[in-house]
Amino acid sequence: MDRDAILLTPGPLTTTLRTKLAMLKDWGSWDADFNAVTAQLRSRLLDVVHGRDTHVVVPLQGSGTFSVEAAVATVVPRNGHVLVPDNGAYCKRAARLTQMMGRKATVLPLAEERPIDVAAVEAALHSDASITHVVLVHCETGTGVENPLAAIAAVCERHGKGLIVDAMSSFGALPIDTRALRFDALVAASGKCLEGVPGMGFVLLRKAILDGCAGNSQSLAMDLHDQHVYMEKTGQWRFTPPTHVVAALAEATAQFVEEGGQPARLARYADNCRTLVGGMAALGFRPFLAPEVQAPIIVTFHAPAHAAYDFKRFYASAKARGFLLYPGKLTQLETFRVGCIGAIGRNEMQQAVHAVADTLREMGIASGAPAL
Ligand SMILES: *Cc1c(COP(=O)(O)O)cnc(C)c1O
Repeated sequence: MDRDAILLTPGPLTTTLRTKLAMLKDWGSWDADFNAVTAQLRSRLLDVVHGRDTHVVVPLQGSGTFSVEAAVATVVPRNGHVLVPDNGAYCKRAARLTQMMGRKATVLPLAEERPIDVAAVEAALHSDASITHVVLVHCETGTGVENPLAAIAAVCERHGKGLIVDAMSSFGALPIDTRALRFDALVAASGKCLEGVPGMGFVLLRKAILDGCAGNSQSLAMDLHDQHVYMEKTGQWRFTPPTHVVAALAEATAQFVEEGGQPARLARYADNCRTLVGGMAALGFRPFLAPEVQAPIIVTFHAPAHAAYDFKRFYASAKARGFLLYPGKLTQLETFRVGCIGAIGRNEMQQAVHAVADTLREMGIASGAPAL
C-alpha cells in the first residue's frame, strides 16, 4: 500500500500532507524566524478558547502527560490538596502523578460509563475544606465519555477552589470558552484534535494566578512559571524546543482556522462518529457508552461474543486493510476503541467500517454483537 495507514487512534493521528511537509525544514532555536513561529502559534492557541485577555499559554516539550504533570506541579502549592473525580484511566493517571509530585490527592471513584457526577464533587468539597484544587479530565479518552466541564468549573468557583483541566482530547473540538468558565490551568497537546504531530503539550494559565505559581514546582524542566517568564523575556523556549513539532503545529493550526475553527472541527468529528457508530451497528457492534454521554472523539465498542474473536488478529487484519484500531482500556470488560479524530472524514470512516466487515468475514465471525 503506497499511502500511510489511517490512524483510528486518539493521537498520534492522521495528519494532512501540508502538516507533514511543514516538517521538512530545519530551524535554529534561537533564531528570530523560529521565535516568530512560536509567538504566532501561542496567540492562535489562546484564540481557540478566547483567552487572550485572561490567560497565557505556556508550551512544554514532551507528550501530553508531561504537561499535566507540569501543570499540577506549577499550580498546586506543595502543601495543596487535590480532588480527582475518577471515571476512567486518564483520571487515575492524573491522580497518580499528583501523588508522585508530592501533593496530597483524594480520589473520588465514580462509574466509568457515566459523566462525572457534579453533586458528588460538590459533596466532596463540602466534606473536606482542606481541598485546594480539583483536577478534571474533560473527555475521558479511556472510554470516550464527556465530563461536565462548565458545571464543575462553576462548583469550583463557588467554593473558591482552583481547577486544573486535562482537555487533551477535547481542545479544539469541544467548545471551551474562557469568557464563560473559570479554570486555573487547562492542558492540551499538539497531536490530538489540533491535528499536529506529537511532541509538545501546552498549558493555558489564568493570568490572575501566575505570580502565585512562582516556586511551586520542584522540577526545573517542568516548571511552567519559569518557562513562561523566560519565554516572555526572550521569545525563546528555555530548553531545546521540538522545532519540527512546533512548525507542524503552527501549520496545523492555520488549517484549523481555515476549516472554520472549533465549530467546524466538532461538526466533522461528530459526522465521523455518527458514520462509524451507524456502520458498526449494522455489523452488530455495540458501543460501551449511551449516545447522550458519548463525545465524538473516540468510541469504545464491546468485543464480539463470537469464540473466534481475538483482538490481536482483529487488529492485524484491519491493519492489513490500512486502518489502525486501538485496544480497549477497561479492566472489567473486553472492548476495543476507534478514534474519530484526525485529518479524516466520512469517506475514511466508511472505508474503516468496510475494513472491519472484511475482517469479520476473514475471521469467520458472523456478527460483531457482544455477549449481553
Ligand atoms: C492523550 C491524553 C493524555 C496524554 O497522553 P500522552 O500519552 O502523554 O500524550 C492525557 N489525558 C488525556 C485525556 C488524553 O487523551
